[in-house]
Amino acid sequence: MATWTRIVALLLLWLPLVFSYSWTPISSDQSFPLPEVRSPDILPDPDDGAQAAFGNASSALDSRSLTSFVSDGSVQPWPIRGILRKRNRIRYCFATAEMKEKIGCRLSEAIALWDEALGGGAGKVSGHNLAFSEARFGGIPQLCFKDFYYTYWNGKRNKLVANDVLAVYLKDEASSGGVSSATAGYIPKERVSADQLRGFRHQLTIAENAPSAVIAHEIGHVMGLMHEHKRPDRDDFVDFRCKKLKGFGSAMITAHAKPENSDLTLEDIGHLLCTDRAFADQNQFEASQFIRITDNEDSHTEFDFDSIMMYGSGSFALDSCHENALDQCPLVKIKKENGVKVDEEYIHRSLRPSEGDAAFVKKYYPWNE
Ligand SMILES: [Zn+2]
Repeated sequence: MATWTRIVALLLLWLPLVFSYSWTPISSDQSFPLPEVRSPDILPDPDDGAQAAFGNASSALDSRSLTSFVSDGSVQPWPIRGILRKRNRIRYCFATAEMKEKIGCRLSEAIALWDEALGGGAGKVSGHNLAFSEARFGGIPQLCFKDFYYTYWNGKRNKLVANDVLAVYLKDEASSGGVSSATAGYIPKERVSADQLRGFRHQLTIAENAPSAVIAHEIGHVMGLMHEHKRPDRDDFVDFRCKKLKGFGSAMITAHAKPENSDLTLEDIGHLLCTDRAFADQNQFEASQFIRITDNEDSHTEFDFDSIMMYGSGSFALDSCHENALDQCPLVKIKKENGVKVDEEYIHRSLRPSEGDAAFVKKYYPWNE
């Protein structure tokens, strides 16, 4: 379709809409030395017949376990986009000019960490086809919103930015609690509600003090990677002790106080908090970032402790967790000899994407001449 035809079609599509916006984070993350960061994702563009570059995303299940490209197609790799139809392009916009000013550089640094791991930007040599760029109209970078209301964390959408663009937000320490978040992978428009289509369905929220490595982790979610420590076979490699997660006690109290849980014993509640993602989320408990994935996920690759998507022992941990007090940590590495556990070790978080992370990107976003 000619560029102008697309632009007109795009404008017509937007005219009748009321531009409100709401969103739900998909996954959240704790940052490294300091607090925590959560993770979900987005890009602009109407769904104008974007090609699914990798064919059926559901066939992607033979990948390393990092994949979040689930079997029902609700999450896919980012499609090939742009006038030339060449690159899998993740376009992003900053919610406000102030956020852009504060976070722009660190976002670029995080993208550079990925480029380094990948052996450069999209190209024949690096072997991948993924590119990031700020959403533009007429060559001019665009913000996500015309007006943004911090009180409601919402705004009047900039109609020059398509609704599948990744909206980038910055949250201060008080409102983020040190937690960054991002949506995972590309969400086809058929998979979201009409209300969600009025806003941005792909989102990246960065906590004020999040280091570049944490932002790189969130970008991993945006690309479609999931937590390494959630893979189906993780119990062979790590020990997860849910009750050592920060907030377990208060989540027990919250859940126990709810009338709908009156039939549940404390033991039931503890079990649900640690095994049921929805139940954990309903009670503001971060266990959902650790609960093992059991459905339709496969892993043919070695467990990757160096993955940028791997939590450390200190993630969402109590202050009492440290290298000399491993029993206080929610996640530790299991050391085995001849298949038998002999010891455990503290897990340090990776500061950059691993070779395995890069392999994932090259598999799902292969170079397109
Ligand atoms: Zn994460």
